[in-house]
Amino acid sequence: MQWRGRRQSSNVEDRRGGGGMFGGGGRMGGPMRIPVRGAGGGLGITGIIILLIAAWIFGINPLELLSGGGSLGGGGGQTQSRTVDTKASDEMTQFVSTVLAETEDTWNGIFQAEGQTYKEPRMVLFSRQVQSACGTASSASGPFYCPNDQRVYLDTTFFQQLDQQFGASGDFAQAYVIAHEVGHHVQNLTGILPRFNQMRQSMSPEEANRMSVRVELQADCFAGVWAHYTDQKGLLEKGDVEEALNAATQIGDDTLQKRSQGYVVPDSFNHGTSAQRRSWFQRGVQNGRLSDCDTFNNPV
Ligand SMILES: [Zn+2]
Repeated sequence: MQWRGRRQSSNVEDRRGGGGMFGGGGRMGGPMRIPVRGAGGGLGITGIIILLIAAWIFGINPLELLSGGGSLGGGGGQTQSRTVDTKASDEMTQFVSTVLAETEDTWNGIFQAEGQTYKEPRMVLFSRQVQSACGTASSASGPFYCPNDQRVYLDTTFFQQLDQQFGASGDFAQAYVIAHEVGHHVQNLTGILPRFNQMRQSMSPEEANRMSVRVELQADCFAGVWAHYTDQKGLLEKGDVEEALNAATQIGDDTLQKRSQGYVVPDSFNHGTSAQRRSWFQRGVQNGRLSDCDTFNNPV
């Protein structure tokens, strides 16, 4: 992805170690704002909002994990020299801030085209452990979105894990992870997550899992919609979409379970299989239409 030199979001909070290896925050969020809107006409967010709210939407695990409960393992602490860490951290901070800014531009545009206002989420970078309005989370949980404080939480060492442990490398694999979490924010704004959270209380665990899969696949599709507009801006490089598709594949429930326990338990799936995640991301990418992301009224 051609991200260097583009606007960085000012919605990033760096809560990584107070004066530790990573040093202070405050570097992100460059002052220059390049107004790039990724909106296309007639996307029909009104339509999708109606469609989604009307659909059966159910709760989500408040600590919504990108890739399935607990199966991410405990990311072993990388030990590198201070210099390397700081440099890598800066680069990573710039990258995630730029990707977040790109999602802001795209979703601002999509909402605007429908006469709606997109309230931008914030992103918290943390190391090891973090306190969110959805509870305390550790790095082992993977990235998540907390609807209660409308923040995406990310320990960027997850990206090393994504690469080394899950075989999903490339900057666009990482961008997909961020765009997926932002997709949950869009679901929150459009009423899907609140509805889901409310309704899941009266569901069996199996039913809740099945509904969770639909919520997750929609977030994948929304990530695809974002990728579509990013591509239209000419920012995608050869192989980027494949990197995202591979990431979606590597963190499918079935693939994760096979890797961790050698067999799969479909009833316990809450994010969707590799094939499903690939396919819904791809749907979003194809035309960038939100209406293609109705995982509630279509077979998944
Ligand atoms: Zn998710």
